[in-house]
Amino acid sequence: MQCEFKNKKITVMGLGLFGGGVGVAQFLAKQGAHVTVTDLRNATELSSSIKQLEGLPISYKLGGHHEEDFTNADMVVVNPAVPKDSKFIQIARNNRIPLDTEMNIFFKLCPAPIIGITGSNGKSTTTTLIGKILEETPRKTWMGGNIGKSLLGCLNEMKPADIVVLELSSFQLEELNHTKKSPHISIVTNISPNHLDRHANMDEYIQAKKAIILHQSFGDYAVLNYDDPELRKWEKDCKGHVLWYSARQMLANGAFIKSNDLIISVNGQNTAIPCVSSIKIPGMHNLQNVLAASCAAYLADARREHIEKAVTTFTGLEHRLEFVREVNGVKYYNDSKATTPESSIAAITAFQAQVILIAGGYDKGSSFMAFADACAGNTKAVVLIGKTAEKIKELILEKKGTKETPSIFIQKTFEEAFQQANALAKTGDVVLLSPACASYDMFINYEHRGRQFKDMVKAL
Ligand code: ADP
Repeated sequence: MQCEFKNKKITVMGLGLFGGGVGVAQFLAKQGAHVTVTDLRNATELSSSIKQLEGLPISYKLGGHHEEDFTNADMVVVNPAVPKDSKFIQIARNNRIPLDTEMNIFFKLCPAPIIGITGSNGKSTTTTLIGKILEETPRKTWMGGNIGKSLLGCLNEMKPADIVVLELSSFQLEELNHTKKSPHISIVTNISPNHLDRHANMDEYIQAKKAIILHQSFGDYAVLNYDDPELRKWEKDCKGHVLWYSARQMLANGAFIKSNDLIISVNGQNTAIPCVSSIKIPGMHNLQNVLAASCAAYLADARREHIEKAVTTFTGLEHRLEFVREVNGVKYYNDSKATTPESSIAAITAFQAQVILIAGGYDKGSSFMAFADACAGNTKAVVLIGKTAEKIKELILEKKGTKETPSIFIQKTFEEAFQQANALAKTGDVVLLSPACASYDMFINYEHRGRQFKDMVKAL
């Protein structure tokens, strides 16, 4: 790898707690750059990230940014979580300091082909599943990105014959537009309104996501969800091969279901994998995730037996429709990662049983109309918490009209909400935490919320 960072003065803006900032700071320091890490948070708040950088020659400017780090630097590496209108980014621009991101640097230096996964929901599940399928094959597989691991530190070991599987957020993709690079195999799971508190509007959000296909070339692949109306419009923007997948209908090429067979159809050749009844992760949405993952892994040389083994043994990720425990005939599911209305709709409709739903939280500016509709039609009771509680209650009341169910409750604390849901549950019911909202108003993050839920279930 050529070392373009040696002796360069580089400011890393936004260390954060999720891996990307740490990964790039580590990488640059090891390459011999003079790294300054700056963050609005203070050292106590960032202690877990700082610990991972111990022993490296890095300077810190925490608890706020300083202008000189944006005027007197060879380069500023911006964390995708930093708002685009930050005054300090503007200062760097005014001083003609090159701006880059952890992911852009990785795309520029990665020697192996990349499978990139984006979408409003289902990214982590699909990414993990692709990783699991490819782990069954002889090909060396690297998995990372938005799922929580920077792969910059692995570049030295990567070979052109390997394969990289990357989860990509809309913020990472938006920046990727500047390097004009897209993955060799791109998957988009779905497009629904998300992060509209950070993207100016839906068009801007869609445009950010589109970076995953816009810079592909003739020999690349786009694997797109045919069941998603927005994605159906994308074909004209794809320069490589387009493969569709659908959990609802059979298709000419791509991936679909035919009774118990998962069919992958590429270049007129069909591969049938008899596995549908053995898939462990519940719901139509997870069937879509399995189809997307299988199709992409197939393009990366996985074969029938590799796909079959991985998709029939994968039991899902923590906090995603995770089965916690059954107590007195009531099943408890933790879907704390469902931070958008669409993801919660997918969870609510995945059950045959009567669902008592715990939902609500921080307001990201989402519309809860369709979610309220799903609650009105598919739940026995809804217990609401957080900033969005009143708004959601009004909408469900409107949707349910004169029907008796669902009964709706608002509780102040998470514990009270749990007790309420528990008191309502009868044998055969499901108690589901699937908030449809982010967690920031009451919890550190969705993991914290999910763990608290599981602790309460385990204490029953
Ligand atoms: P992401 O990484 O995009 O947030 P995850 O795989 O972590 O997606 O799943 C988050 C939540 O979204 C899950 O808890 C589930 O309720 C819902 N979900 C997962 N896959 C899909 C999908 N394909 N379509 C709609 N909702 C989904």
